[in-house]
Amino acid sequence: MSGSKCTRLAGPLVKQLLESVDTVLFDCDGVIWRGDQAIPGASQVINLLKERGKKVFFVTNNSTKTRKMYAEKMSAMGFNVTENEVFGTAYCCAAYLKTICKLEGKVYLVGSPAMRHELEAVGIQQTGVGPDHVSGKPIDWANVPLDPDVKAVVVGFDEHFSYTKLNRALQYLLQKDCLFVGTNRDTRLPLEGGKAVPGTGCLLQAVETAAQRQAQTVGKPNHFMFDCLAAQFGVERERCLMVGDRLDTDIMLGSNCGLKTLLTLTGVSTVAEAQKHQESGCAERQGMVPDYYVESIADLLPALQG
Ligand SMILES: [Mg+2]
Repeated sequence: MSGSKCTRLAGPLVKQLLESVDTVLFDCDGVIWRGDQAIPGASQVINLLKERGKKVFFVTNNSTKTRKMYAEKMSAMGFNVTENEVFGTAYCCAAYLKTICKLEGKVYLVGSPAMRHELEAVGIQQTGVGPDHVSGKPIDWANVPLDPDVKAVVVGFDEHFSYTKLNRALQYLLQKDCLFVGTNRDTRLPLEGGKAVPGTGCLLQAVETAAQRQAQTVGKPNHFMFDCLAAQFGVERERCLMVGDRLDTDIMLGSNCGLKTLLTLTGVSTVAEAQKHQESGCAERQGMVPDYYVESIADLLPALQG
């Protein structure tokens, strides 16, 4: 196999790479679909990989869907997938609090109904989702009522994020031993036609700035997401491939965990960006250089069909 990085994956190299792995991790948006549109050929690739005996998992930083919601979306698009193959940050956050932190107490949740659902599924109570209101005139911000059972502040994507929530998160984090966990640090969610919306990273940074504390994040590029699935399914990292469209999250996760990495060009990042990281000579940026790249994951099809 080629020793140089950022190699175009084509010809006999495809089969060679696939033979060298037992497990393949896929990011979702920009890799197997774009929004609600499946990438042409993606479902065949996933289904054939599984037919060839590969373990396939989906790792996504999106915290607005439960595992079940993902599995349903994928099934509707023709992917052969079960919910225990999906590792989203809503689920991983709950798993982290349960298995690593061994949290005893409630969560003050800045997040979505999906996060509430995944927390409840592992038996963790939370303060609820939706707009947070305080009453009183003038409002005594430093003395808003707090729930004495809250032992953790968790931040994910929340379209009801507000000063009230920011302040309440701060008041909890000022308390001794309050845990602070975030789903992910993606600052911007790119959309079609050059459009974009603010990502969870913006909300998390606001809370971190107020609290003067760093949150522990569970999403890519943090290794927890991989640890979580490796522990459940006995994955051997040397024989595992991470496929993604973002250098700073997907490819970085693969590098952080010692996996082989494949960049697909149907999403956010470009080969030119990867080459810039490679040529920078900066050690930290080498983690954002993939081993291989393809135009689309459909480029894997011929090797799987043959
Ligand atoms: Mg993506």
